[in-house]
Amino acid sequence: MNDVQINSSAKFIIIGQGLAGSILAYFLLQEGQEVQIIDTPEFPSSSKVAAGLYNPVTGRKLVKTWLADKLFPFLEYFYAQLEKELNAKFFHPQAIYRPFVNEDSQKYFKSDHVPDDFSDFGTLTFDNVKYQNIVNSQLGGVTTKHSGWVDLKVMLSAFRSYFLEKGILKEENFSLKNEYENQKVIFCEGFEGRNNPHFNYLPFNPVKGEILDIEIENIELKEIINQGAFVVPLGENKFRLGATYSWHDLDFTPTEQGKNDLIEKYQKLMKPSMRILAHNAGVRPATKDRRPLIGLHPEIKNIGIFNGLGSKGVSLAPYFAKQFVDFLVYQKELQSEVNINRFASLYLGVDKV
Ligand SMILES: Cc1cc2nc3c(=O)[nH]c(=O)nc-3n(C[C@H](O)[C@H](O)[C@H](O)COP(=O)(O)OP(=O)(O)OC[C@H]3O[C@@H](n4cnc5c(N)ncnc54)[C@H](O)[C@@H]3O)c2cc1C
Repeated sequence: MNDVQINSSAKFIIIGQGLAGSILAYFLLQEGQEVQIIDTPEFPSSSKVAAGLYNPVTGRKLVKTWLADKLFPFLEYFYAQLEKELNAKFFHPQAIYRPFVNEDSQKYFKSDHVPDDFSDFGTLTFDNVKYQNIVNSQLGGVTTKHSGWVDLKVMLSAFRSYFLEKGILKEENFSLKNEYENQKVIFCEGFEGRNNPHFNYLPFNPVKGEILDIEIENIELKEIINQGAFVVPLGENKFRLGATYSWHDLDFTPTEQGKNDLIEKYQKLMKPSMRILAHNAGVRPATKDRRPLIGLHPEIKNIGIFNGLGSKGVSLAPYFAKQFVDFLVYQKELQSEVNINRFASLYLGVDKV
């Protein structure tokens, strides 16, 4: 690893300019803090592969996701404002049409078991008239509100220019040295975080994902379609099809198996034929308890971590980056479900570095 020249006046050193590091650095700057970001562009980045979807409902019964009432208003405001600040277009609020999986699912949504506040985040149809030439299911489905996608490649590239312009981004590899004692080093390394000797005691559970860019001709589709797989309209007959989940072979190499799984999912969901344009793979920095990993090291109080965003980085990162900055700058409390303190007992059991 190279030695990195650190700006000695910077109070915060952020390692990694993915989704996590970029948004954390941005909120620190908003609070008037001096920040230095170090990123190795050659390292794989999950953010550059992700579809970037955000969606407030989950599961067969489409219940609200964890903290949806807080996360979604926050993210909608945040990304819309950020587009203006970075002068780039990457935020795409878009409805998601989720066809019912089977008749039982349709029956559930016809019943009065559906929660009273369902109409806040979804509308129902019980026929397939609108999508009859597009989607295989004839049962109707749910169209979500407060959903969409963020073009993370565009956003990260705009962030990169913004940080370079401020002279606070160095594109190098980083190794921790003792001379950073007066600064706080926050690791936002994504999947690489599980190899960080200071934080490798944390229960990461990385998940490989593969994704295809496809072309579908002669199709009028404004909504994202999602059931088993998702199909995101990108414009000009181009779509993104994803994603697979695998806990093996954790690397960024696309596989034949991944491609075939996606083709099969597509054929089950969609009627029109498609052509593959590109195939990518990445590793989601997921955790065993499916909650982010945020906080300061149990013993070395000038190093911290902002990681574990799993498959929901787009919805989790803004809200929790802001919360972490309030903790770092104003000593406000970190929510216990995300604070790495919850794994203190695991730290006591490892060989210290
Ligand atoms: C196929 C796929 C589909 C996905 N779809 C979605 C989706 O639809 N919606 C959603 O919300 N999420 C999705 N995700 C998950 C999303 O990608 C992650 O939640 C998020 O991008 C993680 O961001 P991160 O900044 O933590 O990590 P990363 O994006 O991996 O960034 C880490 C950065 O740290 C740098 N780095 C690491 N170590 C060092 C070091 N020692 N020195 C310097 N730099 C270093 C790397 O170069 C990289 O730039 C998907 C992921 C995959 C793989």
